Amino acid sequence: MATSKYTFASFKAEYPNDDACLEAIIQRRYVVAPACHGCGVVPTKFHRITGRRAYACQWCGHHVYPCAGTPFEHSSTPLTLWFHAMYLMTATRNGVSAKELQRQLGVTYKCAWRIGHELRKLMAARDKMNNPTPLKGHVEIDETYVGGRHRGTRGRGAQGKTVVFGLLERQGAVKGHVVPNVTRATLRPIIEANVQKGSKVSTDEFRTYKNLKKMGYKHGVVSHGIEEYVKGIHHVNSVEGFWSHLKRGISSTHVSVSGKYLQNYVNEFGFRYNNRKDPAEMFHRMLGQIARATPSAHSTQGSH
Ligand SMILES: [Zn+2]
Repeated sequence: MATSKYTFASFKAEYPNDDACLEAIIQRRYVVAPACHGCGVVPTKFHRITGRRAYACQWCGHHVYPCAGTPFEHSSTPLTLWFHAMYLMTATRNGVSAKELQRQLGVTYKCAWRIGHELRKLMAARDKMNNPTPLKGHVEIDETYVGGRHRGTRGRGAQGKTVVFGLLERQGAVKGHVVPNVTRATLRPIIEANVQKGSKVSTDEFRTYKNLKKMGYKHGVVSHGIEEYVKGIHHVNSVEGFWSHLKRGISSTHVSVSGKYLQNYVNEFGFRYNNRKDPAEMFHRMLGQIARATPSAHSTQGSH
C-alpha cells in the first residue's frame, strides 16, 4: 500500500470519466457475491446500461442502480465532479469551502454547498468518530468553545459559543462531540461510552472531570490555572493541537460555521486526523464508505 501522496494526476488516471466512477461504486457494493436480486443467480455478471447509472443482470435483465441510497442517487451532477470534490476534501489539510468547490467544479454555489455537506456526512459515517470501539491506552479529554463574540469562562459566560467535547487516544483516534453544556451529567455518559475502563486519562483541573478516578480511570490532572501544562505523562497537548487545527481550519476555509453544522465539520476534521497516517488511502476509504454507509446498499429499484 502506497504511503505516498495521492496526486491529482493519479486520481484522474483512475477515474477519468463517469463510467469509471460508476464501476468503482458497483464494485464496492457488490464485492462479496455479485448475486442478482431479481433471479438469485450467484454469481452473475452485470452489464452496463448505456446512458444510465445502471447495470442489467446478464441472466434476467434485472436492473441494478449502484448509486441507490448514496448521495449521488438524486443528483444530476456528474460522478466525476462528486469524485473530484471527494479528492479535494481528502487531499487538503483544511478541507475546501463551498466557494472553492464552486470554483473548481464549475457548479452553482448551491450545488457546491450541497456536495460539501453530503461528503461531510459520508466522512462522519466512515470515521472512527462513530466507531463503537472505545478508546483505550492513554486518552486525553478536553472541551473547547467555538464561535461567538465573547471570551467567556467555562460553562458560564460562553453564550453564543458552541461547545465541542473531545476525546483523543494518543497515537490513535480522536472523537469530537458537539454538546449542549459541560455538566457532569452530559459528559459522563460520553466518556463511559467512548473510553475503556482502566485506561489512563489526562485532563486539566476543570471540576467536571473530578470524578474520573471513581469512574474507573487512571486519572492525571494538569493545572492550567497555575500554568502547569505537563505533569509526568499527563498533558492534554494532543487534543489541544486538534482543537487549534479545527479552529484555524474553519476560520481559514469557511470563515465561520453555525452551531447547527459544527458537528459535521468536527467529523470532517476528525476523519482527516484519524486517517493521517495514510493520506493516500483516505480517498479510497471515503469511497468505500459509500458502500457501507447505506444499509439499503443492495436495494435495487425499477426493475421493470
Ligand atoms: Zn438476474
